[in-house]
Amino acid sequence: MFRNMSPRYLDLWETGELRWRAKRAKTMLEECRLCPRRCGANRLLGEKGVCRVNFLAKVASFGPHFGEEAPLVGWRGSGAVFFSGCNLGCTFCQNADVSHGGVGETTSTERLAEIFIDLQGQGCHNLNLVTPTHVLPQILDALDQAAERGFELPLVWNCGGYESEVALELLDGVVDIYMPDFKMSNSEATKKYLRADDYPEVVKAAVKEMHRQVGDLELDDRGVARRGLLVRHLIMPEGIAGTKEVIRFLAEEVSPNTYLNIMDQYRPCHDAVKDPVLGLEPHRNLWKHAVETARRAGLRVDGG
Ligand code: SF4
Repeated sequence: MFRNMSPRYLDLWETGELRWRAKRAKTMLEECRLCPRRCGANRLLGEKGVCRVNFLAKVASFGPHFGEEAPLVGWRGSGAVFFSGCNLGCTFCQNADVSHGGVGETTSTERLAEIFIDLQGQGCHNLNLVTPTHVLPQILDALDQAAERGFELPLVWNCGGYESEVALELLDGVVDIYMPDFKMSNSEATKKYLRADDYPEVVKAAVKEMHRQVGDLELDDRGVARRGLLVRHLIMPEGIAGTKEVIRFLAEEVSPNTYLNIMDQYRPCHDAVKDPVLGLEPHRNLWKHAVETARRAGLRVDGG
């Protein structure tokens, strides 16, 4: 392996910067402003904000995962860690019991480091942190401990795209592959369906910064992702996701080489079943049209 394709956090670990960042991030839990919600909860004293997690991370499950994009899965799987809690409030969430229902096991940073090492031992191609935003300090601490013990998998930040400037500053040089959702581009829709009216402006700023840090998605000679940006967008009923603007933004304001996965698996669940729009299934033409539009815009499209 070429040194310049080694996980980026190893350089920060070698200099002690990773430990320092973990400490700095932990202090932010005292009056939590980690994400754009800026709840102000004192998580060190056990208070919980919108994400419903205090000073200890909760893990719902972990293991080799084969349901992600091909460049992440390779042939040995992506080492996924599914965290409980979430800083968004999607009314159509498919994992509501985990994101807001509290399902998961309270996990120390020592145990989290063991999980990372276990996934490496199972041969996974990467460490895929799913819904990690609200437990960033705990992850940095665990990563520092794991690196000390020889952990060296590329790190995937698999998030909802609702990231603050300060979180991305803490992650600069830590993350190898950013994999944010770009869920919706219209603030009226995001206020109603994500409970975050500032989501469009936040996700746009976040995706630009992620691309500045890691660039376009790079694969190794076996087709496995090593570094870069991969964006996901789910086609929603009645076009409420604002797909056209998502594609325009990525092609014109981020990079025409952006890797975009346009997903078609939306099914009404959770509170969505009762909603007159979210209770519908998207017309198949919406997905086909989105894939064609994205290809015409020059994006690297993974549709399906
Ligand atoms: S990470 Fe959680 S507690 Fe902190 S600001 Fe975000 S939602 Fe609130």
